[in-house]
Amino acid sequence: MRTVYVNGDYVPEAEARVSVFDRGFLFADGVYEVTSVLGGKLIDFDGHAARLERSLAELDMPMPMDADALLAVHRRLVEENGIDEGLVYLQVTRGAADRDFAYPDPAPAQTVVLFTQEKPGLADSPAAARGIRVVSIPDRRWARRDIKTVQLLYPSMGKMEAKGRGADDAWMVEDGAVTEGTSNNAYIVVGDTIVTRHLGEEILHGITRAAVLRMAREAQMRVEERAFTIEEAQGATEAFVTSASTFVTPVVEIDGAPVGDGTPGPVARRLREIYLDEARAKGR
Ligand code: PMP
Repeated sequence: MRTVYVNGDYVPEAEARVSVFDRGFLFADGVYEVTSVLGGKLIDFDGHAARLERSLAELDMPMPMDADALLAVHRRLVEENGIDEGLVYLQVTRGAADRDFAYPDPAPAQTVVLFTQEKPGLADSPAAARGIRVVSIPDRRWARRDIKTVQLLYPSMGKMEAKGRGADDAWMVEDGAVTEGTSNNAYIVVGDTIVTRHLGEEILHGITRAAVLRMAREAQMRVEERAFTIEEAQGATEAFVTSASTFVTPVVEIDGAPVGDGTPGPVARRLREIYLDEARAKGR
């Protein structure tokens, strides 16, 4: 049985408790982060901690503890649960209070939950080798996607629609342009240029995105941050997605049309390699 962290305590998962009045449960009034673990080390921890602080601030919530203390909790869970490859999930909510749309005043104690998930073969996944197939769906999420809230129902519905249509995932489209994947940022390669949507309130500012774009530029690859359409993506030489738990994963088919020759391309392959090498070297 896993050990999980709940509000200061390390407890067996079966003993972990959160109130039915928790605003995370009642209002999705909470934010989360997922940090991957490779070789027992946390990947991009600083980026995830920084984004957590930003998401909380956008909702007028403080950090429940400083980044060093958070790191210590992450490390203890990785250690106690013997995680070599996997992830640490963290969720912070505004806490429990009588149900009322207004934020409770005074603020209740925040709810802080962390747990691990073991994912053997995370770095060596079949999806990375084979590439994934995506379908396009309208982006019907709320308009502040830059805040990493736990209201993930639409992305979850999108993933189910993709599966129902025989694909692996969905890319969401708004005003004719791709925003992002249900749980990842989306990229295409046009000529010698890597194209991914510019940052804004329309997409989550991926921590993996920031790292991969930095590495691409360091490797003298061209990067353009702009919107693109499904049609442009279908005509691109390559497509791929990034996220903390999938790193860089090639996309080989979009709405039934093969991308390039329908197999993972060299840019995605190379970026995945560079990302994993640096992640392993710099993991905390
Ligand atoms: N966009 C969305 C909508 C996501 O849910 C995620 C994963 N949490 C990402 C992008 C990728 O972000 P990151 O690289 O920080 O995991």
